[in-house]
Amino acid sequence: MIKFSIITIFPKMFDSIFQYGIINQAIKKKIININIFNLRNYSIYKRNKVDDKIYGGGSGMLIMFLPLLKAITHIKKTIKKPSLVVYLSPQGKLLHHNNIKHFIKEKHIIFICGRYKGIDERFLKTEVDEEWSIGDYIVTGGEIPAMVFIDAITRMIPGVLNNKNSLLEESFSNNLLDYPNYTRPKKINNQTVPTVLLSGNHKKIKKWRFKKSIQNTILKKPHLLKKLNKIKNNKII
Ligand code: SAM
Repeated sequence: MIKFSIITIFPKMFDSIFQYGIINQAIKKKIININIFNLRNYSIYKRNKVDDKIYGGGSGMLIMFLPLLKAITHIKKTIKKPSLVVYLSPQGKLLHHNNIKHFIKEKHIIFICGRYKGIDERFLKTEVDEEWSIGDYIVTGGEIPAMVFIDAITRMIPGVLNNKNSLLEESFSNNLLDYPNYTRPKKINNQTVPTVLLSGNHKKIKKWRFKKSIQNTILKKPHLLKKLNKIKNNKII
């Protein structure tokens, strides 16, 4: 089981997000476990303050060292497993399909959700193991990035998806994008389903899908093709 701990000043943001779909099933199957910790509960300051002005001036507030330290110390003591402390930050390493495996081997991941201008640099230097980003843009806090990380990691844990092939057939596996998919009805707005998909010929369907995956990748994300090895007989080798 992988345990996820989230440190946030907005714990209620997580109230419903993990109550749906595959993530909820993974919690019920005890494949993952998620605990939310309100940073304000670890404040030693008046009115549970966790942020303060920035030295040197400038706009915005910064999350202070001590509440964060108290929170991770408490969490590490409570959850007696080796812990990876991750600070979610636009300055971190970019999350990509290929580095999700890196997280799956962990027993316990503590995600720190920043707010305002972020967190005190000294905490980052001494207490954070890794800094990770969801993309080269800024969101207002680390909560949505934490949700993205937990969702993306969880669905890759063996046993979470009922059909193992879902993982192998989707975009980014083998550094290719998914092929186009169709469902009922067969004809809509003068558009039909490619006849090969109705043929029942699985060999032909496989070949068509492989070709379309390559076309999709060339058209939409050609940079992925640089990572491809050789293609032979409709297989990546
Ligand atoms: N001043 C920071 C900077 O320029 O690097 C940005 C602070 S941002 C407004 C507030 C918090 O949102 C950050 O501390 C971080 O936890 C989170 N955050 C914002 N963008 C993110 C991203 N792309 N990936 C992960 N976390 C992000």
